[in-house]
Amino acid sequence: MPHNLLLAFDIGGTKLAVGIAQIAQFRQTGTFDMLVKEPIPSPGTPDVVVQRLMEIGRQLIANANGQLAGIGISIGGPLDHLTGTVLNFPHLPGWLNIPLRQQLSEAFGAPAWLDNDANLGALAEHRLGAGKGADTMVYLTISTGIGGGVIVNGKLHHGVASGAGEMGHITVQTDGPRCACGNHGCLETMASGTAIARRAGHALSAYPERGGVLRQMLGAQSQPTAQQVFAAAAAGDQLAQELWEETAKYLAIGLGSIIHVLAPEVIVLGGGVAQTGEGLLDPVRRNLANHVFYIPLPSIQVLPAALGHNSAVIGAGLLAAERLT
Ligand SMILES: [Zn+2]
Repeated sequence: MPHNLLLAFDIGGTKLAVGIAQIAQFRQTGTFDMLVKEPIPSPGTPDVVVQRLMEIGRQLIANANGQLAGIGISIGGPLDHLTGTVLNFPHLPGWLNIPLRQQLSEAFGAPAWLDNDANLGALAEHRLGAGKGADTMVYLTISTGIGGGVIVNGKLHHGVASGAGEMGHITVQTDGPRCACGNHGCLETMASGTAIARRAGHALSAYPERGGVLRQMLGAQSQPTAQQVFAAAAAGDQLAQELWEETAKYLAIGLGSIIHVLAPEVIVLGGGVAQTGEGLLDPVRRNLANHVFYIPLPSIQVLPAALGHNSAVIGAGLLAAERLT
């Protein structure tokens, strides 16, 4: 039988995904023959999670037509992509210096490659999504945190210590709140879903007479979600509109810095907060005009992500597919 199959793994903080595909077809379409998603097993220690990935992977291979050629792995934490080691995965217990690539490669008797979920989301959006055909592309995923990936000359850019693309930690307000990374006023602490919720909670406490529509949406909650802030802004709530505009302003400050370094053809925004589509993209584009002057903004496209929440596992498949062909 031909070695025609790839396996793709995505390990998240609460969920895992395993896909199997025919390599040649996958490079063109990003479509899995089978894609299994389930909650992370408990406890989510490396041994238990790897064991479960092996079970699902073997089952998928047994039901597929052909033999395994290689494996792509995505995880959402700091890692060394050259050695295939997960340095730290703070969402789950015991994930410190885990040679994940080697473990899965040995378990399946096939070569494996590892990268982080935001980089692989960028790869997927560049090959098959909103950034298709761009020479230089930047991808930001805006959800509970902010992550990203950078494509330069059509390739993922990793930088030293696999550290490139950490755009959530660009400083956008020097006296802003302290970030988990140690810095103050990171983009992530001002414009992520978590940050929007926090800023909205503060604003409602500070201005008891404002934000009527937003307060009605709260019910028993003490703090609105980013989605509620967006919905209230769309319904005409002025406080929510100001909070949303401020979010776009911080994103534009961060993107302005990125634009001055890379002048990318395309900036792709994904993640839960960006699912508001033009509701976020339009004010971000408008605010960029306050921060970028030397580079003509009409030559930079700011687009919504096209692949949705499967982008990391699709990117993991592409990582393997491109090494194998
Ligand atoms: Zn930070």
